[in-house]
Amino acid sequence: MASHLANIFGTEQDRVNCSFYYKIGACRHGDRCSRKHIKPPFSQTILLPNVYHNPAHDPVCKLSEKELQDGFDAVYEDLYCELSKFGHLLELHVCDNVGDHLIGNVYARYEWETEAQAAVDNCNQRWYAGRPLYAELSPVTDFREACCRQNENGECNRGGFCNFMHLRMPSPILLKELRHGQKVDRKLHPPKQTHGGGWEPKPREGGRNRSSSPHRRGGHSGEDRWTRKQA
Ligand SMILES: [Zn+2]
Ligand SMILES: [Zn+2]
Repeated sequence: MASHLANIFGTEQDRVNCSFYYKIGACRHGDRCSRKHIKPPFSQTILLPNVYHNPAHDPVCKLSEKELQDGFDAVYEDLYCELSKFGHLLELHVCDNVGDHLIGNVYARYEWETEAQAAVDNCNQRWYAGRPLYAELSPVTDFREACCRQNENGECNRGGFCNFMHLRMPSPILLKELRHGQKVDRKLHPPKQTHGGGWEPKPREGGRNRSSSPHRRGGHSGEDRWTRKQA
């Protein structure tokens, strides 16, 4: 019996735990869901809900595809550079859904749970692009499971209101450069301890910590998007 329960935990057969919350970290019923949303006490993954606002969702948007992609790349780069200060960032995903519970959600997965916790604690003190950030540990472990397969094949007829993740992708070249930049940066400035014990984000000093990062292309320094919440 116990092993049966373990096998169905967080699946559609699980009548107690919400499979959407477990797999996607967000469920359209929110706090009113009839099934449980168990917030993990430890996780490698963090969720920053409702961070990215896609200008294309504005009905009067006149930006070209290229301008939209450049704008998104600037945001993605900004998030990547900032979030990689808390540890070894393995994945960074941004939702392009429009339903309330998934719109603009940003998920970051770290190598170590302590790194994720440090990122949550720091982000909860801050604002991004003029709005306060609310960070939480998320149960999502497998983004393949969280993403909508039909969308990846261009066949999802629920569009932005789909309850699985529809990710907005950065330009492949940017992602490659960011990953490479993080690798070089971690080699040049190794964490004080291994196993996620003591990675201290270093203070900004004249762009030193971006030395190996690619040049920002969108004309945004990104610096002005991040501000501290007033104590
Ligand atoms: Zn639910
Ligand atoms: Zn879908």
